[in-house]
This record gives sequence, C-alpha cells and structure tokens, in this order.
Amino acid sequence: MTRAFSQPVYLDHNATSPVRPEAMSAMMSALGQAANPSSVHAAGRRARAVVEDARAAVAALVGAAAPDVIFTSGGTEANALALASAAGWTSRLIIGAIEHEAVAANAAAMGLPVEIWPVDANGVANLDWLQVRLAGLSAGERPFVALMLANNETGVIQPVAAAAVLVHATQGWLHVDAVQAAGKIAIDVAALGADTLALSAHKLGGPQGVGALVHAEGAHLRPILRGGGQERGLRAGTENVAGIAGFAAAAQAALRDLESLQAQAVWRDSAAERLAALGAVVVGQAVDRLPNTLCIAAPGFSAQLQVMGLDLEGVMVSAGAACSSGRVKPSGVLAAMGLSELADCAVRASGGWTTTEQDWNRFAEVWRHAYGRHTARARMKEFA
Ligand code: PLP
Repeated sequence: MTRAFSQPVYLDHNATSPVRPEAMSAMMSALGQAANPSSVHAAGRRARAVVEDARAAVAALVGAAAPDVIFTSGGTEANALALASAAGWTSRLIIGAIEHEAVAANAAAMGLPVEIWPVDANGVANLDWLQVRLAGLSAGERPFVALMLANNETGVIQPVAAAAVLVHATQGWLHVDAVQAAGKIAIDVAALGADTLALSAHKLGGPQGVGALVHAEGAHLRPILRGGGQERGLRAGTENVAGIAGFAAAAQAALRDLESLQAQAVWRDSAAERLAALGAVVVGQAVDRLPNTLCIAAPGFSAQLQVMGLDLEGVMVSAGAACSSGRVKPSGVLAAMGLSELADCAVRASGGWTTTEQDWNRFAEVWRHAYGRHTARARMKEFA
C-alpha cells in the first residue's frame, strides 16, 4: 500500500493498535445478538458459544488450552488478578525493574516488601542477580516473580524461559506480562514456563477494555471480583461478549499476520539508522527487540518537543512513558537501564498491522527536520 506523505502516520501501536476490520465485524455481529451468556435459552446459548469460541482463539495465540483463559477487563486487571492471587501465597515478591505500572503498582499495594530485579544497560533483566537472590531464600520460602515478556517502551525481549527455570527450582511462581509481546512475536506459554500470563486486546488490534489472564494448570488463583461466578468463579461479572469476540478475531488475525509483521523490523531499522547518523541513540539496539518498536533518544531534545514537533507534521508517536494525564514524564525504564540522562528525551515509535514502509520513512524524515530545527535553535541560543 502506498500513501501520500500528507496523510497522518500512526506509529503508536504499543499504546493502542487500531481495531482490525475482523475484530470490528465480530463485535458488530456479537452486539447484534445480545444476550447474557449465562441465560439458558437459545439466545443465551449462542452468546455462550461466542465466548467459548473466543476463549479457544485467544488460547491458541499463546499455545494454551481454552480452559486456561480467564477474560478480564484488560491487561491491567489480568496483572492485578495474578498479583492479588499471590497475596497470602507468598511473602517474597520480586518484580522486574522495568515492569509496567499495572504490575508495579499492584505489587506495591500487596503490603509486602517488593524487591526490584535490576536490568542491564540494554534493558535485559539480569539473570545472575535473580539466581543469587533465589539462592538466598530460606528453605520453604516460595517467591512470586514478575517479568514482562517485552518492554512497552523499548521493545526489549526478556529472558523469561531462563527465569522460569530458576523460579521453578524454588517452587516459585513466575508471572509474565505479555501484553506488548502478544501478536508481535510467537508465544508458547508452556515453553516460556509462565505460571500466569497477562494479555490485552487493544495492543493487537482488538477493542480496549478486554484482556485475559492465561494460567498453567493448578495455578493458585483467587478472584478480585466476586459475584455471579462467571469465568469459573475467578472473575465475576457478565462477560463483555462483544469485546471478547473482538479480542478473539484480533488474536486470530495477529497470529495469521505474525510472519508479515516481522518486516516492520527491517523498515524500523532503516529509519533508525538514518536517525543514528544524525546523533540519535537507539535504545536496546544490541539485543532482541519486538519487530515493531523503536525507542530513540536525542540528548538535549526533550521528548515533549519531539512528540509535539512530529505531531504537527502528522506523525503520531509517544514519549517513552506518557501518564494518563497526557503529560510526558521522564522514563523510569531508561533510568533503570542507567540512561537517566536520556530519560526525558526518548520517544517511542511503534508500528503494527496498519504500518507501511512509507510510514517509517516519513517518521525518519519528519524527525530529521524537527531535530534540525532544534539544533539550529540551540546554536542560536549559544551565540545570543
Ligand atoms: N502491561 C503492559 C506492558 C502495557 O504496555 C500495558 C498498556 O500499556 C498494560 C500492561 C495495561 O494494559 P491495559 O491497557 O489493557 O490495561
């Protein structure tokens, strides 16, 4: 698909990926036959079938069995459900230094000391640290460890399978936030060794407000929401049937498109190369990253100015971390990587199923202009 340069370029799929047409039509169809999946009449049974078919489709995205999927209101609730379940099960809580707030804030709310598992300068969790830390546990102490599969700001992929081996050797529980990785790289929950794994529909072309917690057999889950007993008593509340149908359709499309999505890496790297030649820093370049994500920093060129400058030219990206107020705050992820000097001057461009090579080229072109204007202004200030 070619596109005129004047058309807007959306490179913020890690924030929300546009809803796929397959998801849209699955949702419209589910909305058209609204009934409660718990009703025993024919319409209720049809709604139940939509939910159960969707459960199988979402399970297939991560190589799980359908009964292992619990639908939630999104990635945040999926993470919160895993953490809340671990309260009372463990007294040892270890979370990665670059976890999303959905993990970090819920861990902090558990009333237990939270140990922060550091990352190296590339943004990869330090396995040696974990090994030493776990070796220091007393006999019978079983830890709950949270490690995301891929970081939302840098796209850096984490050594989850290796961490699982260490955690399981201590009878511990490994929780994996796979919200950003799902639909961008292949996932097999058993091969990863995740005891629980969080997903969110709107990161892969489904609707906002629906997600899932996938769990291994025998995981110690306890509901946050009690009531009607839906989702096998683990998440009460009438199911979001249309949202769940949209999630499933998006999951199927994402799985189908997984191979073609890998082209994003080539286009991204070509754009990144041009920006690096101007002096920009490509974060996490030396390690495995999601194919769609570029975190780029220019010392002295604030993230806010970059985002605004690009937006004025119709190119939409995010600052490393945007808070819900819409304001830009310094990136805790970069700070954890020891890159504090770049923490308020990094932006994230993230492609997805709508993104073309021209989009990445346009991003590089517009960024180059914005950077040129910035350096010219900085030089003028020097001489003033
Ligand atoms: N985990 C990660 C890594 C994320 O990037 C996000 C959203 O940005 C979430 C969890 C929260 O997901 P949701 O927006 O579905 O609540």
